[in-house]
Amino acid sequence: MESCNTPACQSARDIFHELEDYYDDHNLYFQTVSSVLEAANALEVPHRLKLILSQPKNEIMFHCPVQMDDGTWQLFKGYRVQHNNVLGPYKGGIRYHPEVKLDEVKTLALLMTMKCALARLPYGGAKGALKIDPRAVSRAELQRVTRRLTAALGNNIGPDYDIPAPDVGTNCQIMAWMADTYINFAESSTKVTARGVVTGKPLEFGGSAGREKATGQGLVYVLDELLPGMGMEIGKLSYSLIGYGNVGSWTARLLQQRGSTLITVMDHTGAIFHETGIDAQKLAEHVKVTGGVAGYPDAEVISSETFYSTPVDLFIPAALEQMVDLEHAKLISCKVLVEAANAPTTPHAEQYLLDKGVAILPAILCNAGGVTVSYFEWKQNRQSETWDEEVVDERLRKVMVGSAKRVLEMADRLKCSMRVASYASAIEHLDKVYKMRGVFP
Ligand code: NAD
Repeated sequence: MESCNTPACQSARDIFHELEDYYDDHNLYFQTVSSVLEAANALEVPHRLKLILSQPKNEIMFHCPVQMDDGTWQLFKGYRVQHNNVLGPYKGGIRYHPEVKLDEVKTLALLMTMKCALARLPYGGAKGALKIDPRAVSRAELQRVTRRLTAALGNNIGPDYDIPAPDVGTNCQIMAWMADTYINFAESSTKVTARGVVTGKPLEFGGSAGREKATGQGLVYVLDELLPGMGMEIGKLSYSLIGYGNVGSWTARLLQQRGSTLITVMDHTGAIFHETGIDAQKLAEHVKVTGGVAGYPDAEVISSETFYSTPVDLFIPAALEQMVDLEHAKLISCKVLVEAANAPTTPHAEQYLLDKGVAILPAILCNAGGVTVSYFEWKQNRQSETWDEEVVDERLRKVMVGSAKRVLEMADRLKCSMRVASYASAIEHLDKVYKMRGVFP
């Protein structure tokens, strides 16, 4: 593959050279930093801010020995990357996936800094991961691994310092085990607020109404705000979805309530299609029982190529990073690509789609609903309050609409793509805070 010659890539190369850190053009972290620097260059922020944002503050790597049910021992590799905390405590999910790598976690941590800044939340950015296939271990093993991971993180997490949440392969049960482990280690004077160490907890144990659906709900609010300006009506749309986990399945269920039609879905078990629409609720029930979309009776099995090439109004990746590459982009036929997953589109695919006139709604805008309701959960925990779902939804709507407006205004001001605009709005905010606080000492 040819190397990248854009000014943004050159900026990233210069910055990494200055930091004596080297990356190749096809590395996800390099690509994400390039994109962020494109926005920083458009704003002409101080060079020191570009240096700060190009590297995480802390990269923690650890290994957890855990005894398995059959008596053998396994060593699991874990990461917690704390990218930036100028706006507030580090915040970001914990992912369980067998293929996870440090650069992926660094990328996701950087995106969390950008996401929280764009939404104007009082949080910095972080991300964690454990190299494990959660589907391949028993519930008891999963609990032991999770408790051991929480103990290994120790004081590197905390309700005032770094607050994990669910991500790919983790859920509210795992958050409950993490919170319980942390509370057991906490001093008695801090036990009441200690459960705020993680968000995305079960409702019965300090979770928030509306958190489980929050990322999908936030995305729907963004579509409500942006689609009319593109001449589209949410109730008349067809769409494709990659991923039917938390984000994908909630997005589908909420879009169904608005009258949109789910034509195709693909997940790690296969791809399915129905010309007049797949019932999102029934599919969610099927996935809950079987673990994937394969075998869903009321749809036709299709190939991955057919999945990508089926014409739709919206194409929504809601699975892992980089699932829309240039080859896929050449197949895709849609008006808007809605990034529900983090970093789902490669730079080559992005350029190809933009040149074709496809609008791309960037991930840090589209999927900020999760961290926003996490913030509401953390606030409720600190104040010993319980908000109704209507209150949560209305506050979430305000945050998502505010962020969408900021992106549109910035895109108009800089005459740039919505991705660059979303980063620029985040960076402008971070720049103001750095200027007010100064850089210590
Ligand atoms: P999840 O674990 O609930 O679901 C992941 C989905 O990806 C599953 O449906 C799985 O089948 C699918 N998948 C995995 N490998 C695949 C492959 N090779 N091909 C097709 N599909 C594949 O995860 P999630 O929480 O829904 O997260 C999805 C994305 O959204 C991630 O990028 C995550 O970082 C991002 N995100 C999640 C949240 C949240 O609140 N959960 C918030 C913001 C962003």
